[in-house]
Amino acid sequence: MKPEFDLCVIGGGSAGLVVAAGGAGLGAKVALVEKRALGGDCLWTGCVPSKALLHSAKVAHTVRTARRAAVGADEPEPDLPAAMARVRAVIQTLEPHDSPARFRGLGVEVVFGAGRFIDSGRFEVEGRTLTAKRFVIATGSRPALPPIPGLGLTPFLTNETLFELREPVPRLVILGAGPIGMEMAQAFRRLGSEVEVLDSAEQALPKEDRDLSALVERQLVEEGVRFSLGCEALEAAPAPNGIRLTVRGPTGAQRGIEGSHLLIAVGRKPNLEDLGLDAAGVALENGRLALDARLRTANRRIYACGDVAGPFLFTHTAEHQAGVVLKNALFHLPVRAETRAVPWCTFTDPELARVGLSEREAAERGVPHRAYGFDFENLDRAVTDDAARGRAKLVTSPRGTILGAAIAGAGAGELIHEYVLAMRHKLKVSDLAGAIHVYPTLAQVNRRLAEQRLKAGLTPAAKRWLKRIFGLRGN
Ligand SMILES: Cc1cc2nc3c(=O)[nH]c(=O)nc-3n(C[C@H](O)[C@H](O)[C@H](O)COP(=O)(O)OP(=O)(O)OC[C@H]3O[C@@H](n4cnc5c(N)ncnc54)[C@H](O)[C@@H]3O)c2cc1C
Repeated sequence: MKPEFDLCVIGGGSAGLVVAAGGAGLGAKVALVEKRALGGDCLWTGCVPSKALLHSAKVAHTVRTARRAAVGADEPEPDLPAAMARVRAVIQTLEPHDSPARFRGLGVEVVFGAGRFIDSGRFEVEGRTLTAKRFVIATGSRPALPPIPGLGLTPFLTNETLFELREPVPRLVILGAGPIGMEMAQAFRRLGSEVEVLDSAEQALPKEDRDLSALVERQLVEEGVRFSLGCEALEAAPAPNGIRLTVRGPTGAQRGIEGSHLLIAVGRKPNLEDLGLDAAGVALENGRLALDARLRTANRRIYACGDVAGPFLFTHTAEHQAGVVLKNALFHLPVRAETRAVPWCTFTDPELARVGLSEREAAERGVPHRAYGFDFENLDRAVTDDAARGRAKLVTSPRGTILGAAIAGAGAGELIHEYVLAMRHKLKVSDLAGAIHVYPTLAQVNRRLAEQRLKAGLTPAAKRWLKRIFGLRGN
């Protein structure tokens, strides 16, 4: 019997929505299955609420530091419950874009419920059997919970409950100094909470180069965030005013940390349970979906994209992978998912953005490389704007191929795109250095950084030749 749909998408977050809207727009008959609400983590519990809260926090910080710009201002009066109400209002403003009505209007059949595969070509949901030529698993991820004794009896928050807070948070303890932990540490601190961040890693933002993450860490410390790094959480328990963690520090000494609230932000787990993957012939590898470069599972009619596919857990990679799936599933084009020129950004202030290899990764992987740096304090616009805390780094092969770039500094999330384009189109460092950049902009950091590589590439012998040929008389 002919399948009812061309595409059946399971999960209506960033990845699934792009597949569904794109598929319908291209003329496919699409079913979209969602167990909660369309929009996924990004809209309800991830990017949108976190960035909306960071905005309120930034306004508070700007008022608090107005005197640095010679502008008199009273102390701000941050109000966390009101800021959270604003977060929810922002979500409501954006929600119609992801609403069932909009998708039904695009011709997508939206089915609510959590279903499962009953064989390699049928997905059952709420008593209905959906058949499709191609399926797409886009069920996202959820917060991973660390196996800390007592955690089950201790009240804690994750990104799934944080933005529902309606009460003040006098003292927030955050487990995890990754991007989510760091963004929320700064947001809550700027909005008036005392904040302590714990991590077993010895640096904040442990995936980034130490010199760059240290800039962000120093900023947060100056704002009053306390860090306990290299610390292991041994036990969690409820306390009269909230929670208590027992931790072992880097020296082996134990101590207790109390907070009114505990936020767990130690990583993510793919949502793979109860989908009937065995029945569908979809294989796992080390607890993750086994996928080829075209994002096909072991059952070639079933694809995956977004957080559930990994390895990058971002909305923009979910959207990119959705496009790859559409091209492969509908048009049988052998398009591969990008894994090299993939950018990301931690939206602290200063931001920390990266694309490609970091200096440390290049060293750890034994990749021959050179690294160059340029500090924001040497950038006129950063000085005029009181944003001199920052550093940009470029990692190239010895011959000058760009392997990666990272920026800690104001506007890093915008500035990184020049390197994304350069890497994607295999531009040379000299192309970046030769492109005229508007003065005075922060984007000039990209040209100045490229010049570091060109200067370093000028060997003493080459300099001697230039001097001889052109009769130059300097040193
Ligand atoms: C606090 C936080 C801040 C973030 N900030 C950023 C940021 O600034 N920039 C960025 O790029 N990324 C950010 N992210 C990551 C981003 O939110 C995710 O990468 C993105 O949402 C992944 O989209 P997805 O479609 O794969 O998954 P999701 O958005 O999680 O969507 C999956 C959907 O599948 C549904 N589902 C699950 N199981 C089933 C089932 N069995 N049947 C039917 N439906 C099911 C879920 O209900 C959900 O709606 C952030 C994440 C968090 C947690």
